[in-house]
Amino acid sequence: MEDVRRSSSGRKPAEGAEEDGLGVDTEASSFSSIYAPGAFALILFGPPGSGKGTQAKLLVTELGFAHISTGDILRDHIAAEDAIGRQVMAMMKNGQLVPDELVNQMVEERIGRPDCENGFILDGFPRTLGQAENLGWLLAARGLGHLVVHLAVDYNKLVGRLTARRQCPQCGTLYNLLSKSPLVAGRCDIEGANLVIRPDDQEMVIRKRLEAYDAQTRPLIEYFRADGSLHEVEASDAPPQVIASQVRQLIEEYRGR
Ligand SMILES: [Zn+2]
Repeated sequence: MEDVRRSSSGRKPAEGAEEDGLGVDTEASSFSSIYAPGAFALILFGPPGSGKGTQAKLLVTELGFAHISTGDILRDHIAAEDAIGRQVMAMMKNGQLVPDELVNQMVEERIGRPDCENGFILDGFPRTLGQAENLGWLLAARGLGHLVVHLAVDYNKLVGRLTARRQCPQCGTLYNLLSKSPLVAGRCDIEGANLVIRPDDQEMVIRKRLEAYDAQTRPLIEYFRADGSLHEVEASDAPPQVIASQVRQLIEEYRGR
């Protein structure tokens, strides 16, 4: 943990102001320089397997936004085998959540990069009330609004989708036996390696991830409903392109307010 830089820009409001996380409006001038007028945060919210990453990929280019996946950032640390990566790997293997402090610092650093100028899609963040409150301070300090899209999917559908995931151990390509099968069963299309189930896609771990979601993340639905930013899209059965068009419509409505 010692080499995690603590940014001086993430000042938090005084004790006692925390319940009002998304309403705090201080220091707006100190961060606004990198953001274009109308920039905002699109929060894709939903359980593991709800298609947040797929939607982010469909929408990110046309919006000119940055795609911020906290899972990808964490996996980059794991691949680099640095101090954060080693710490995180043990927790992800057990389906545990990574500490808020660590994730918050990574997100704060990430949203300050130039590719976030027009706005950004948050995929897999926030996951806890603490993260949501911290995000509220970060956005308010930068004068950024937020739109939350909840991708709602039935529990059994989630388990089915997640247990169908396979990965190539050599090139990293991801497959899904339900939606993106390899050309030859069990083999990577690129170089023919035998596909494997990632440690965090094992069924027991999946059930733990879904339990963690229910306990820690699902309560954020009420949190975002209370601040008026929550919108729900039924994502159990519709194809990704159909869901994306519904998200597009919500973005249009948000921009037209
Ligand atoms: Zn491969």
